[in-house]
Amino acid sequence: MEQSSDAEPPSIDELRERYRREQQKRLRPEGMAQWRELNEELDRDPFVAPGFTRDPVVEETTVVIVGGGFAGMLTAIDLAKHGITDVRIIEKAGDFGGTWYWNRYPGCMCDVESYVYLPLLEETGFMPSERYASATEIFEYSKLLARTFDLYPHALFQTDVTGAEWDEEGQRWRVTTSRGDRLSGRFMVLAGGILHKAKMPGIPGIEDFEGKAFHTSRWDYSFTGGSPTEPMNGLADKRVGIIGTGATAVQVVPQIARAAKELFVFQRTPGAVGVRNQQPTDVEWFQSLKPGWQKERIVNFTQAVTGAQPEVDLVADGWTELMWVDTQKAVDPEEAEALERIDFEAMESIRRRVEEIVEDPETAEKLKPYWGKHCKRVCFHDEYLPAFNLPNVHLVDTDGRGVDELTTRGPVVNGVEYPVDLLIYASGFEVTTDLHHRLGFDLKGLGGAALSERWAKGAHTLHGVLASGFPNLLLISLVQGGFGTNFSHLLSESAKHVAHIVETCVEQGIVEIEPEEAAEEEWLSVLHAVGFGGARYFQNCTPSFYNSEQQSIDARAARNLTYSGSLLDYIGYLERWRQAPDFAGVNVLREEVSESE
Ligand code: NDP
Repeated sequence: MEQSSDAEPPSIDELRERYRREQQKRLRPEGMAQWRELNEELDRDPFVAPGFTRDPVVEETTVVIVGGGFAGMLTAIDLAKHGITDVRIIEKAGDFGGTWYWNRYPGCMCDVESYVYLPLLEETGFMPSERYASATEIFEYSKLLARTFDLYPHALFQTDVTGAEWDEEGQRWRVTTSRGDRLSGRFMVLAGGILHKAKMPGIPGIEDFEGKAFHTSRWDYSFTGGSPTEPMNGLADKRVGIIGTGATAVQVVPQIARAAKELFVFQRTPGAVGVRNQQPTDVEWFQSLKPGWQKERIVNFTQAVTGAQPEVDLVADGWTELMWVDTQKAVDPEEAEALERIDFEAMESIRRRVEEIVEDPETAEKLKPYWGKHCKRVCFHDEYLPAFNLPNVHLVDTDGRGVDELTTRGPVVNGVEYPVDLLIYASGFEVTTDLHHRLGFDLKGLGGAALSERWAKGAHTLHGVLASGFPNLLLISLVQGGFGTNFSHLLSESAKHVAHIVETCVEQGIVEIEPEEAAEEEWLSVLHAVGFGGARYFQNCTPSFYNSEQQSIDARAARNLTYSGSLLDYIGYLERWRQAPDFAGVNVLREEVSESE
């Protein structure tokens, strides 16, 4: 079905068949077991000076927050706005910023518009310099947020939580850390673990490679030279390999292409790359925005990407024009076919873009993605595809198999060894593995039961936030929670919800809060009902972390769902629950008030 640009476009049947073939090639019996963890050396934080020490902290606070990325920061900010400043934030990294702390690879940026992605712009008065902000700017903005809302005194950096246990008698969470801290919080917020745990492909021989290697989220500028904002002058005489062609690789490949002597891009599945159209911020426009503009724009963007078709599309970019999801998830066959056609057309436009940009027709053909637009994360970039026109850039397509093995010198594909000095793993992060595994500790709730035991057959939560068996625990994660293209919209709303629960408990003297199991089952039935159409769609997808590598759905996976409808609908559930007079579906225990009071 290979076609040149003047050939007839493929029919729906041909595309269906092509998608099916591409999916079949990529199904691997080992499913999620294909991934490996980073070893200690590869996982080391390259952005802090070694040898940091401090005295252990022993203290009691109202809230302990695990994670200093946007979720944790926004929760602390919301709490502070309601007078709760008695908060401790524990963070593995050396600063705030979460994903934007770790991902400093050259070219790293956020392809969701900065005016809707960066939270609280109206409150900080910050103007992003470009329409799509660089990771450097977002990391700086995280620090600005922390300074503006006085979060630094609350943070314990370079600290891993090693354990957390609910003290039934004391009605508090007892938290231990890698720095010997003994912390105790009336509430514990888990605001980490979403794109936190980097993963490596389990390629045979991976330990044998003798060159330099690192994961993109641990970029080693001491080897490459340069910095996120300066050219990598250390690569001029180097042969570099990169494994992966997802959202990260799409951003980093053009930068390495510019700096390295040779670049080999090892591809298992082609990414989809639409137009980015980066622009500097129009200062006059930005200054003319009226109070309330950011909330309006954020909601408008989420409406547009969830098929709600707002009257005006304020952002009007690739996400809103190409990637919107019809949340009705059509059940009648005619409507389903119409949506399938729209999906095919969107991906056809992405495939046409490849052949318009990439000069070598064979390379262009290999770079065309044949999968549905929601099967994997579509990317938007203007320099990725042109990089394949450079003489020093070589696409090594593995036809869906992945790199066959690694020798001491480099990757092997189809019997050909590609010796490299540097091998970069743009292999992504764990997303659907067990939450306790991603967090790096297994918390213990009522009766000392571990989260891994309680959730052994799948998660039990109300809205993905409260969990039975774990009083006063508040979760911000994807497990039974919401999902959205603009992730910071989801995190802002989740933080608001979590902060509301804590504030209400403090105000009303509630010492324990825990959802009823019946309410959790009811929430699960909502997740199932809304996930029905999506599950059918994903069945036909190439494997990815969106569908747990197409591993067959067991009873556990059937509970570990994300709310797959519109983010606005998910937010609606949270808002209605907050507005109802009492915490519905939740057991609360109030402080005992002595007779004399
Ligand atoms: P991904 O998981 O999306 O990509 C991993 C890549 O590694 C895939 O291309 C995968 O191929 C490839 N791979 C895995 N094993 C092998 C193998 N054995 N041989 C060859 N290739 C292999 O990770 P990313 O870091 O790119 O992105 C993760 C997430 O981070 C994104 O989905 C997004 O949420 C976020 N992100 C957001 C950005 C933004 O602009 N907002 C920018 C960057 C990341 P295959 O597809 O076949 O599995």
